[in-house]
Amino acid sequence: MRILLQTTSANAGLWHAALAAALPGAEVRLWPDCPRDADYLAVWKPPPELFGLAPAARAIFNLGAGVDALLQVPTLPAGVPVIRLEDAGMAEQMVDYVTLAVLAAYREQRVYADQQREGLWRQRAHLRKQAFGVGLLGLGLLGQTVAAGLARFGFPLAGWRRERKAVAGVRTFAGAAELPDFLAWSQALVCLLPSTPDTRGLLDRTRLRQLPRGAHLVNVARGDIVVDADLVEALDDGHLASATLDVFHKEPLPPAHPFWHHPRITVTPHVSAVTLVDDSAAQIAAKIRRLERGLPVTGVVDRDRGY
Ligand code: NAP
Repeated sequence: MRILLQTTSANAGLWHAALAAALPGAEVRLWPDCPRDADYLAVWKPPPELFGLAPAARAIFNLGAGVDALLQVPTLPAGVPVIRLEDAGMAEQMVDYVTLAVLAAYREQRVYADQQREGLWRQRAHLRKQAFGVGLLGLGLLGQTVAAGLARFGFPLAGWRRERKAVAGVRTFAGAAELPDFLAWSQALVCLLPSTPDTRGLLDRTRLRQLPRGAHLVNVARGDIVVDADLVEALDDGHLASATLDVFHKEPLPPAHPFWHHPRITVTPHVSAVTLVDDSAAQIAAKIRRLERGLPVTGVVDRDRGY
């Protein structure tokens, strides 16, 4: 069995070693050393020529949870299953990151940090947790794990997804028609949606203003779901209290971007959940073994939906 591995990550050598170790007997080649007859491709942001040079793939593995970049490669062959990473150690990291951001928002850490800079001793009114609803925009693998993590802190939880499927302890809103009510409910909004034609630009001026006044945004999904100028406007006029942003339209975030120095924005460099090479290679190897035995695998992307 031949596997072509391609990644833009600085960890290419680690990926190669991990996949080779997880699939003894397979020949793992690292792009641009490209076999024409690779059985499986494992790629991250591949160059368009790759699919012409390695056409015979039985499945294409995406070395990440979000497939937005891969699905936009014009040469991606139709009819070959695209399989994404599912959790693979990312969900636990997301729980930590989002919990930190939500607790900091609820406990008004930014306000107290500002007061400290001014030498101000001023106690603010206690916020009732029951009045601080956390809305999860996207209630998939990561969204559900984050919900379970936040439930331990006693926040009221709601989630928005395409189809209504019950999740214990989470009030579910489904589809475009229920989005305004979901946003109006969310004192903190955590974005865990995939970037698709339906979600790009979703958090625009209209949607951001459907959040309650003083709400907080946490975006750990993809930068292009948010309209940057509309977010800055909503923060500047006080409609939103803060934004914690880990993902951006362009990464690295350009030095002149207004997010860098905005007093109500926290910027992190796409670290909310990093891809863990060993866990991910083990997951891919396990799926390849199932495919080789003719068994179905999970994580197959629905290309029409875009995730
Ligand atoms: P997932 O399991 O596929 O969940 C996606 C969720 O979004 C599902 O609940 C889905 O609804 C919902 N959704 C998609 N399109 C929708 C639409 N048009 N309207 C309403 N709901 C919609 O994905 P995941 O594994 O949780 O990952 C989510 C995203 O996180 C990834 O796509 C990736 O972009 C991002 N991510 C970021 C990092 C990072 O480091 N910042 C790391 C990993 C992942 P249904 O449940 O109804 O299908």
